Amino acid sequence: MQNRLFIEKAFLNGEFITFERTFSVVNPATGQAIGQLPDLTVENCREFIDVAHESWTSWRTTSIAERASILNRLFQLIEQHREELAQIMTLESGKPIQESRIEVAYANSFVEWFAEEAKRSYGQTIPTQDGKSRLQTIKQGVGPVAAITPWNFPLAMLTRKVAPALAAGCSVVLKPASQTPFTAIAFAKLSQEAGLPDGVFNLITSKDSKGIGEELATNEKIRKISFTGSTEVGRTLMQQASSTIKRISLELGGNAPFMVFKDANIDEAVKGAIAGKFRNAGQTCVAVNRFYIQAQVYDQFKDKLTAAVSQLKVGPGIEEDSQVGPLINQSGLEKVERHVQDAVNKGAQIEIGGQRINGLFYQPTVLSNVSRHASISFEETFGPICALFKFEHEEEAIQLANATPFGLAAYFYSQDVQQCFRVAEALEAGMVGINTGMVSNAAAPFGGVKQSGLGREGATQGLDEYLEVKYLNFGG
Ligand code: ADP
Repeated sequence: MQNRLFIEKAFLNGEFITFERTFSVVNPATGQAIGQLPDLTVENCREFIDVAHESWTSWRTTSIAERASILNRLFQLIEQHREELAQIMTLESGKPIQESRIEVAYANSFVEWFAEEAKRSYGQTIPTQDGKSRLQTIKQGVGPVAAITPWNFPLAMLTRKVAPALAAGCSVVLKPASQTPFTAIAFAKLSQEAGLPDGVFNLITSKDSKGIGEELATNEKIRKISFTGSTEVGRTLMQQASSTIKRISLELGGNAPFMVFKDANIDEAVKGAIAGKFRNAGQTCVAVNRFYIQAQVYDQFKDKLTAAVSQLKVGPGIEEDSQVGPLINQSGLEKVERHVQDAVNKGAQIEIGGQRINGLFYQPTVLSNVSRHASISFEETFGPICALFKFEHEEEAIQLANATPFGLAAYFYSQDVQQCFRVAEALEAGMVGINTGMVSNAAAPFGGVKQSGLGREGATQGLDEYLEVKYLNFGG
């Protein structure tokens, strides 16, 4: 590939390194290998951790102004290389190039945000009670951080962790998903060009996610682990991290409900549904998984949504007008097929779609009259399927929306202001989109409740995840 940021190496202590054993990364749109990367081992991982631990000593005492200026330079470089990054992202993840460009900008907004936010990591002065001592708190970086990221947002999930960690004075070992490591390696290259000192950011590539994950979660030199991925793996990492009482942040699976109430603006709701469902072919943790539509507007919403879905252009992400790309791999495709088949077996009607096209491409699909017992109503599908359920009353909709162990995003459409407050407050979710199908924003805290995770990314809270509070008592 003619792109200087496309590098087939891992990144350790400021150097791009190779290894005798490699693994290949595949373009999901074609099934062709796009490159080879070092298949590093658990033993190598210890070396990465040692380097991060050593470099932390000087990075933690680097001034906030210096850290912020490096992040600002990195922001500029990412902006300048937006197209190269988007091309790599589409090649390895399959997402439409238009979406990759948007993701690069979104990912970069975290770099910009945390460059600024580091300057505002205020402590407190606590009023003295005995009139003698003086009490104060300061915030300091937690120490070397391990970050494990998924394939669906190869850059945004990285910057949401790495930018606040660096801003807070932490060093990092990153393990990107083995399906989409090249975008992360391009980031490593730009971090070096931005002047980040050697060893502060390190990137390990490996097929052994389990072994590397366990080392990162249990090694004493790592003080914090931040993970985005499945609830199952999050649970394992949480158990492993308990051995050294590490701080943890987990962004896990969702099962987002999308409710349309009877007085909603239906055209707007359809637009929100398309945005909330079809981004990255439905492979996002905040993707709508269940559509609950009030009986009075059910048919109208169903027909308009079906018409909008029929307009979506499916194709390889690299084509400029593609709106829905392939699924990431065979098991992702099989899950989608299984969910559709199961819904149909339990009485659902296919309004549009319902078939695999070829390779890993699946038709954007609308299912109506879906049973509340269908797998799609309680499992995250991660594919381009809209499952429509009918409800009569607000309480029923809230009860259905909350009837899941997950609680990441939830969305609803209503023009009744009182209802907006009532429903928003009753939903068991970390994020609620009200008359919108999008919640992501670097200035807002992203995260879930229940089994969707722990901690928040972005916003002021996203920096606090990488800071410890130290209390100082000046006696006498
Ligand atoms: P998905 O692939 O569905 O997004 P995963 O949780 O399997 O979700 O993957 C998210 C990230 O976690 C990827 O980087 C993957 O390589 C990594 N991973 C997978 N299994 C483990 C594990 N047992 N321990 C640590 N990391 C893992």
